[in-house]
Amino acid sequence: MKKIIAVDGPAGAGKSTVSKIAAARLGYTYIDTGAMYRAVALKVLLDGQPLSEELVDNIKIELDEAARVYLDGRNVTTEIRTPEVSRGASDVAKFGFVRKKLTELQRQMAARGSVIMDGRDIGTQVLPNADLKIFLTASVEERARRRFEELRAKGSAANLAQITEEIKLRDKQDSEREIAPLAIAEDAVPVDSTHMTIDEVVAEILRLATTTEK
Ligand code: C5P
Repeated sequence: MKKIIAVDGPAGAGKSTVSKIAAARLGYTYIDTGAMYRAVALKVLLDGQPLSEELVDNIKIELDEAARVYLDGRNVTTEIRTPEVSRGASDVAKFGFVRKKLTELQRQMAARGSVIMDGRDIGTQVLPNADLKIFLTASVEERARRRFEELRAKGSAANLAQITEEIKLRDKQDSEREIAPLAIAEDAVPVDSTHMTIDEVVAEILRLATTTEK
C-alpha cells in the first residue's frame, strides 16, 4: 500500500474532490495545501496590511480531520472559497518566505504517513519521495464548467466566461512563477479527467494506491 500520496494539478481539475473521497476510502488523512495558501491570502485581506515575513511568521493555520481550515483559531473553511481569495492565494504563493513556511508545515503534517496531500508542488517540492504521485488535469473549458456548476449549486451568481478567464490567469501565474511552479514530477502518473466521472477518477487513484508497482 502506498502510504504517502501526492496529487498535483491546475485549478479546478477536481483534486480536492477526488482526494477527499479517496482518503476516506483508504482511511487516510486528506491535506488540502491550497487551503493553506488561501488562509494566508485571507489574513492579508482581513488585516489590510501588505504581505510581510512577520505576518507569515505569526500566522496560525490548522486543518482538522474533516478538512476544515482554521486561521488563528477561527474556522474560515467557507470564507476562503471566494474568487477574491483564489486570486490572493495565487499572488501570495509567489513569495519564497510564504512557500518555505507552508512547505515546512505540510511536511510535518505528512510525517505521520497515510496521507493524501493535494496542491501544485507536492510531488516536485514538498514530498519528492512520495510513494505515489498523480498529476490530475482536465481541459480549461471543462474545469471552468465544473467551477461554474459548483457556484450555481451553491446559489452564487456565476459567469462562465469570467470563470474561464480567471482559471486561465491562475494557470499562467501558477505555472510561470519562479519558485515551485506548477509542474508535473518526472515520476508522476498523469490522469486526464476531462471525460471521467468523479467515481472513475477515485477508482483510478485507489487502483494506483493499492498496486505494488512503483
Ligand atoms: O488548490 P487551490 O485552488 O485551492 O489553490 C489556491 C492557490 O494556492 C493556487 O492557485 C496556487 O497559486 C496556490 N497553491 C500553491 N501551491 C500549492 C497549493 C496551492 O502555490 N501546493
